Amino acid sequence: MYSNTQPVNVLKFCPRCGSANFPATGSRSFKCGDCSFNFFVNSSAAVAVLLFNEKGELLFTRRAIQPHFGKLDLPGGFIDPGETAEQAAMREIQEELGIKIHSLKYFCSYPNEYVFSGFSVYTLDLAFLAKTESLHQMTAMDDISSFEFYKPKDVDLEELPSVSMKNIIKELIDREGTY
Ligand SMILES: [Zn+2]
Repeated sequence: MYSNTQPVNVLKFCPRCGSANFPATGSRSFKCGDCSFNFFVNSSAAVAVLLFNEKGELLFTRRAIQPHFGKLDLPGGFIDPGETAEQAAMREIQEELGIKIHSLKYFCSYPNEYVFSGFSVYTLDLAFLAKTESLHQMTAMDDISSFEFYKPKDVDLEELPSVSMKNIIKELIDREGTY
């Protein structure tokens, strides 16, 4: 019923008291039989930033970390607790590319599931259109090895392993001329 990377097949012990009496109460919820701790697995919120150059080409990054090492990605990352999505987008772009962005505009969101260290990780990826005056001052840092520009319709979707990133690019193509 569940793959062997899903939470009900991976999480065996209560994270609060360490008890092995830690039954699943649903597909993504648990309740400890000893200390009554309730544990829920939810989607983590993440951001992807859509930055176009003057030729209408979109900025992609090359991943320098697992999962999907060496594959294409959109710049962005997880939203920290207490942050807004816009703050996370600005922070991630500063960390990955060393530039400032502005005029963020929500575009769309897509869910994603990927396996990391044998565990299914669920995210909701929020895509924002953004602007910058510093595209030519970018430096690849943090968890990316380089950056590349492609028109959305020209990018090889096989090079984008994440389902949510594929869907964001498809929506960019479908809504071309309206954003
Ligand atoms: Zn417990």
